[in-house]
Amino acid sequence: MSLFALDGKTALVTGANTGIGQAVAVALAEAGAHVICAGRRTCAETVDQIGARAEDLRLDFADPMAARDVFAARPVDILINNAGIIRRADATEFGEQDWDDVMDVNLKAVFFACQAFAKAAIARQAGGKIVNIASLLSFQGGIRVPSYAASKHGVAGLTKALCNEWAGQGITVNAIAPGYIATNNTQALREDAARNQSILDRIPAGRWGAPSDIAATAVYLSAPASDYVNGAVLNVDGGWLAR
Ligand code: NAP
Repeated sequence: MSLFALDGKTALVTGANTGIGQAVAVALAEAGAHVICAGRRTCAETVDQIGARAEDLRLDFADPMAARDVFAARPVDILINNAGIIRRADATEFGEQDWDDVMDVNLKAVFFACQAFAKAAIARQAGGKIVNIASLLSFQGGIRVPSYAASKHGVAGLTKALCNEWAGQGITVNAIAPGYIATNNTQALREDAARNQSILDRIPAGRWGAPSDIAATAVYLSAPASDYVNGAVLNVDGGWLAR
């Protein structure tokens, strides 16, 4: 079997209706997986792109426990925790709701989805692959995004903590730290001409990343090729963090 083949595997991708999550879902399916495309609204567009090996699941992490029963109901081999939100405001003005909303979706929901996935995988003695979508702001502070930076630093820490607990059960827990990727999440930055230029000036690759750049790494971290990679937070950033 190819080191990069996912034939016979079932993957669940959160936030699979658009952006990075959509590209990851499509790439996992191209590698052979059956993909459960989870979203707070329909993932029909992604399911249509994939075809028969995809299904639509409604999961809204406004309730951070939303995935509690998903993995007990059916075997899932790969979990991609991609859903995430960002709120921007000066730290002196940043509100409690913006703090809680971001922490709930970006960190609390990720932990409890990992927990539900691992409980089921350990019960089946099946092993598994978890890929959390972190951020450059797992390492840096960013500007006017305190809850986002805190949540993504948390995702990096959680990835290592869960690796330590579950590696012995054949579960890998890794994260991808995307650089600046052209999606809805970064539309405001790209529309600000000065900010867009200052970002481009710092990226050694000289371009924004594409969702497909992240999808390829997600396939690797979901495949047998990465079986000895565990607890890693892998930068996919065109060299941004090397500067
Ligand atoms: P995006 O296009 O805004 O996608 C975010 C996804 O998360 C969407 O599917 C969104 O659904 C979903 N989501 C938001 N709140 C949710 C909730 N309560 N329940 C379920 N799903 C929810 O942005 P993206 O860039 O693809 O972001 C994907 C991940 O990459 C996020 O974790 C983000 O922090 C991370 N990331 C992105 C970049 C970048 O440069 N783009 C860089 C570093 C990290 P809706 O479409 O319904 O809102």
